[in-house]
Amino acid sequence: MDELDTTVAHPARRYNYWLGGKDNFAADRESGDQLQALFPKVRLGALANRALLQRATRFLAAEAGIRQFLDIGTGLPTADNTHEVAQSVAPESRIVYVDNDPMVLVHARALLTSSPQGRTAYIEADLTEPGRILADPVVRETIDFDEPVALMLIAVLHFVHGHGAAKAIVRELVDALPAGSYLCATHATSDFGTPEQQRLYQQLIDEGKSDVWTRPKEEFAELFEGLEIVEPGIVPPSEWRPEPGAEIPARSDINVWTATARKP
Ligand code: SAH
Repeated sequence: MDELDTTVAHPARRYNYWLGGKDNFAADRESGDQLQALFPKVRLGALANRALLQRATRFLAAEAGIRQFLDIGTGLPTADNTHEVAQSVAPESRIVYVDNDPMVLVHARALLTSSPQGRTAYIEADLTEPGRILADPVVRETIDFDEPVALMLIAVLHFVHGHGAAKAIVRELVDALPAGSYLCATHATSDFGTPEQQRLYQQLIDEGKSDVWTRPKEEFAELFEGLEIVEPGIVPPSEWRPEPGAEIPARSDINVWTATARKP
């Protein structure tokens, strides 16, 4: 297991900071503030992303009939984690959480509060090693790969840097799932930034000051090749089956794409 280094910003803890949580350190807050200086509404994006996770999980459990979830890039537990939402619809739901931040492991007990009928498990593993995740004994014990699975990649793929790098990983994971499975993903994008914001953002990446590798819509869409994207298609999370009457923020305040798709 990696050392718990609190002097370097970590995505899980920075996201926790943006969501108003307490499980973060000075380095995480500094990095969070730096990104917020460039994207002043980044907290809004984080909240919209988290709300999408909950609405999509409810859709998958209630409408798509999914009972197994592989949630990679789990984040620190907050309210209404994937298993709580899924099990509130179907108590027999089984969830495996995967994250590579040791701090998430420290808090994992809060994720392992399964309903008696279902099951939740946690493994520390890296998204960039899909083969390891798929072969993990805990994953194999908890998830039946002959039955549909929802692969949740929520706000995690943008930590995989490089053109085309996310696609290969998603492909390997989706290939392991049976027909009737779903892929649900969200991904940070610079598509809505002004040219000046885009230039500054690229500069942050080049200087190694941002760990978020944004992708344009076309590249996000490629992750879903061969899958049937459900309505309303590829949209910002705030526009994906919003609660009736919900206020829809400007796309340039959210800077995230999402889609949910079924494997035929
Ligand atoms: N999915 C949650 C949390 C998103 S925060 C939500 O949307 O609310 C992103 C999470 O991805 C963090 O917990 C971070 O530790 C994790 N992460 C980043 N890179 C990862 C990688 N390569 N493998 C596994 N997890 C990763």
